[in-house]
Amino acid sequence: MDLRFTADEIAFRDAARRFFRTAVPEAIRRKNLAGEHLDKADIVTSQRILNARGWAVPHWPRAWGGQDWSPVQLYLYQDEMQQAGVPAPLSFNTTMVGPVIAAFGSDEQKRKFLPRIANLDDWWCQGFSEPGAGSDLAGLRTRAVRDGETWVVNGQKTWTTLAQYADWIFLLVRTDPVVKKQQGISFILVDMTTPGVSVRPIITIDGAHEVNEVFFDDVVVPAGNLVGEVNKGWDYAKFLLGNERTGIARAGESKARLKRIRELAALEFAGARPLLEDPIFARRLAAVEIELKALELTQLRVVADERKYGDGKANPASSILKLKGSELQQACTELLMEVAGPWVLPRRPEGERRNEPHGGPDFADQAAPAYFNMRKVSIYAGSNEIQRNIIAKAILGF
Ligand SMILES: Cc1cc2nc3c(=O)[nH]c(=O)nc-3n(C[C@H](O)[C@H](O)[C@H](O)COP(=O)(O)OP(=O)(O)OC[C@H]3O[C@@H](n4cnc5c(N)ncnc54)[C@H](O)[C@@H]3O)c2cc1C
Repeated sequence: MDLRFTADEIAFRDAARRFFRTAVPEAIRRKNLAGEHLDKADIVTSQRILNARGWAVPHWPRAWGGQDWSPVQLYLYQDEMQQAGVPAPLSFNTTMVGPVIAAFGSDEQKRKFLPRIANLDDWWCQGFSEPGAGSDLAGLRTRAVRDGETWVVNGQKTWTTLAQYADWIFLLVRTDPVVKKQQGISFILVDMTTPGVSVRPIITIDGAHEVNEVFFDDVVVPAGNLVGEVNKGWDYAKFLLGNERTGIARAGESKARLKRIRELAALEFAGARPLLEDPIFARRLAAVEIELKALELTQLRVVADERKYGDGKANPASSILKLKGSELQQACTELLMEVAGPWVLPRRPEGERRNEPHGGPDFADQAAPAYFNMRKVSIYAGSNEIQRNIIAKAILGF
């Protein structure tokens, strides 16, 4: 297998590198690379810059703004975007609900939603998980009952990321409680301003407001908001989850973070010498760098394999990318904690201002929140235990 890039691919990579590093404001990219929370405005600004160039949704069908890029181009686009610190286009919009509407939605839904999804005119959130239905998602209980030309939705979703910003939510709802559980689920679009929708924050261990509970109390939804066919929602959900391929490893982001850790470790002292020269730290850093190189090669093998897995079918190797990629994201935050040392302790809660200086280096302020926040990556998008089950079954044949 030849994993080298062609001259055209290298030219494409260089153009992407230039664009990401010049068009998207440095302040947003720096914040993102430092692992700080981005504001809604940061994400909207960045996505609209990409969309103006036709680069917010390159993987979509051409008719709706896609670019017809090869798997290698898509890989390079994501890798360069992550290394430059450009926030990825909002995944709920661009890799989740957008492709589902483009593939299964009515013409009216496509015209109404897709351009606004690409430009982040509407912010979408994902209403799949419920208390008691996470890994066992098909056990979900939020119900939609047909009433004339509407559906009436009752129930609760949880862990809904950034629902506080959302204009719309896409939901999996139970529309047939009698049949096998996967066969009684539908996919429906709900305007967050509809009476009966309420959002309650969940504050995570880093002190941030990133996830929420969302409640549905007799929420009346027009019948035209149901996507595709009634009771086929499980198929659409599988299609949606299969859409996230190599980007899920976030290797570009980890590369940029490791580069920064190396630079910072050269400036911080451990005793009489820079931390970077401490043999124990240097060995740990090298181990993570080697694992990351291996992950990149696995990513390239998945890209080379891409043609085998068309039509939204998930390549089981993406479970390896999720598993290793999330472990390395976490390893980067652990290394940064070591570089910051005791300066991680006096950190101020986000937004709090004080007269006294912090005392430590600026980067130390974000080290602990980023470390705590990254615990999430081995839970969401299918926990790492579930990924191991998939690898055992689909790759190792157990
Ligand atoms: C920060 C964050 C953001 C999220 N954002 C969203 C969102 O926007 N929208 C949304 O719908 N959901 C979201 N989720 C939910 C996420 O998809 C679920 O948390 C995840 O699927 C796990 O489900 P659970 O939390 O119910 O845990 P459970 O499924 O109850 O699992 C508990 C533990 O048991 C393990 N486990 C479960 N089943 C098995 C098994 N068969 N074999 C081995 N081990 C198993 C799990 O790995 C885990 O360690 C988010 C979660 C987090 C943490």
